Amino acid sequence: GAGSKTVKDYIRTIVDFPHEGIMFRDVTTLFADPRGFRMAVDQMLHPYAGSRIDKVVGLEARGFIIGGAIAHQLSTGFVPIRKKGKLPGPTISEEYQLEYGEAVMEIHDDAIAPGEKVLLVDDLLATGGTAEAGIKLVERLGGEIVGCAFIVDLPDLGGRRRLEAMGMDVHALCA
Ligand code: 5GP
Repeated sequence: GAGSKTVKDYIRTIVDFPHEGIMFRDVTTLFADPRGFRMAVDQMLHPYAGSRIDKVVGLEARGFIIGGAIAHQLSTGFVPIRKKGKLPGPTISEEYQLEYGEAVMEIHDDAIAPGEKVLLVDDLLATGGTAEAGIKLVERLGGEIVGCAFIVDLPDLGGRRRLEAMGMDVHALCA
């Protein structure tokens, strides 16, 4: 029954999206399910029970959905990290490499106060490039990352090793 389903059971794989050869993990089916969504929020928070967290930082775009829910559950503020040009106020930015070319992520320069404890969240960890850019942005503002929480980790792509090499505590709900 629904009671025995795991988070992974709510995620579907779309073949050849966004281009041929990619098996895209689609978490919209997880977000759409009331049990699945709550299960994901609760399980992402479990490792941090008892830890001080001042802010939840979410990476565009699915990190906003899960991160907003996590921040609400913790009664903390939520801070978005967005692709270049989307945030209205003064920002700092970090460039990072994609498979083809590069991308830039930004955070408002007043979004984190020095010393604040931050939980960084996104839906999926692949190469870790996006999360690494997010970590650097938070740390440049003086924030201290308590942990990096993901719904899915694709271990073959090396993201976990990359973030752990930066001293990060990395948790994911499924592979
Ligand atoms: P990375 O920077 O670790 O290589 O890629 C992770 C970023 O790309 C995350 O922001 C994530 O949302 C997105 N991403 C890459 N592949 C997938 C996928 O298969 N499914 C989902 N939902 N997001 C993906």
